Amino acid sequence: MIVMKFGGSSVANRQQIEKVLAIVKSRAARAPLVVSSAHKGMTDALLGAAREAARGIFAPEKVISRQAAIARDLGCDDTLLAPFYAELTDLLRGLSLVRELSPRSIDYAASFGERMAVRCIADFFTRQGLPSQAFDVWELGFVTDAQFNAARPLPGYELEMRRLVKEAVPPGVVPIVTGFVGRTESGEITTVGRNGSDLTATLVGGALGAQEVEIWSDTDGVMTADPSVVKEARSIPAMRFDEAAELAYFGSRVLHPSTLVPAMEKSIPVRVLNTNRPDHPGTVIRDAAPEEVHTATSIAYRGGQIAVTITSTRMLGAAGFLAEAFETLGRHGVVVDMITTSEVSVSFTTDQREPLERALVEIQKLGDVRVEGGKTLLVVVGRRLAGQAGLGAAILKAVADAGVNVEMISYGMKSVSLTMLIADADVSRAVGVLHERLFAVAQ
Ligand code: ASP
Ligand code: MG
Repeated sequence: MIVMKFGGSSVANRQQIEKVLAIVKSRAARAPLVVSSAHKGMTDALLGAAREAARGIFAPEKVISRQAAIARDLGCDDTLLAPFYAELTDLLRGLSLVRELSPRSIDYAASFGERMAVRCIADFFTRQGLPSQAFDVWELGFVTDAQFNAARPLPGYELEMRRLVKEAVPPGVVPIVTGFVGRTESGEITTVGRNGSDLTATLVGGALGAQEVEIWSDTDGVMTADPSVVKEARSIPAMRFDEAAELAYFGSRVLHPSTLVPAMEKSIPVRVLNTNRPDHPGTVIRDAAPEEVHTATSIAYRGGQIAVTITSTRMLGAAGFLAEAFETLGRHGVVVDMITTSEVSVSFTTDQREPLERALVEIQKLGDVRVEGGKTLLVVVGRRLAGQAGLGAAILKAVADAGVNVEMISYGMKSVSLTMLIADADVSRAVGVLHERLFAVAQ
């Protein structure tokens, strides 16, 4: 079997959902399980309505009419979603009375997008000749912990999912399953976090031992750079899990960073495809991609970084200094993105200002501390970059030729990335020149 996940833009309206229908039909022989996001913009609209309600403004019509318009366009009977409209109206009224919005009620409000979308899609598919059935993912065993906004399935959920899918999905019927949401053992609705439907897809694929997880979105797979910055950006045919994970973390918007973990653990290939161009082969992400000529595969960046440098003669030849510094950061919940050290100083970056400020109160006792904001991590991702003579130099030379100053570099043994810290203002210049040197000319 395969898992096919369609994002919000893929199921935005009837025109897009018709494309999805054709794509799912073309895979019918591979026993697809479809994971769907809410229609584009619905999650934001639901969260907006919930926030308004908590300020005392009870106005369910806007978000309901938005969903109803898509349902009507798909030819669904009004009764299909009526219970959801009633439940959502009750929820929003409740929020407007108590004027309170907890992580739990945020997840509950957000969950309506996926729960309503799968019902419309399954109903439409069935009338169009592809027998389908909508499922809330928990009906198939996806029971989570109570970490609202970042819920994860409980240990052992895989077995339960395998059993329930067999039991609940009639033969020859395509299950259309909610992404993003989950439910605790005691029946409270949770979500795995914004943009989390990809993660639902790999978690479900991992549980069911899928042959492949397809992530359908609106680019031709994973690109060599952000196409809005580099117009020559092109699709990468194949990547390894570690490369793709690095890229997802450092700013490629195609994949949610934790998406790949379940697929990696179970060695299930993830294929990123374009709903608007289904014949394009996209990008396959798997254990060992075939060796390619180029060792650099893509360029990404992550802005909003704060660079911190601690200088202290206490570091000279002493053990335990770094441990102390990073123990403090860890205790305050600072996620560090990049580190470099010398004998008397250590520099690191993070994009989390609040925990950093708390940690700095203690860090200041370790030595002289300098803090600078407005920085971007520019990352070249590839395979064993440091194993190729001259590649590091070529990357740095390209950035220098763009007139961009590099303030920190991290480049590890067998590394999948070379990371440079530059000023926010220099990003598009640096990315443009790098892309030209690494990809366009080399072609
Ligand atoms: N609908 C959810 C969101 O917008 C999840 C997703 O689309 O992946 O965050
Ligand atoms: Mg998405």
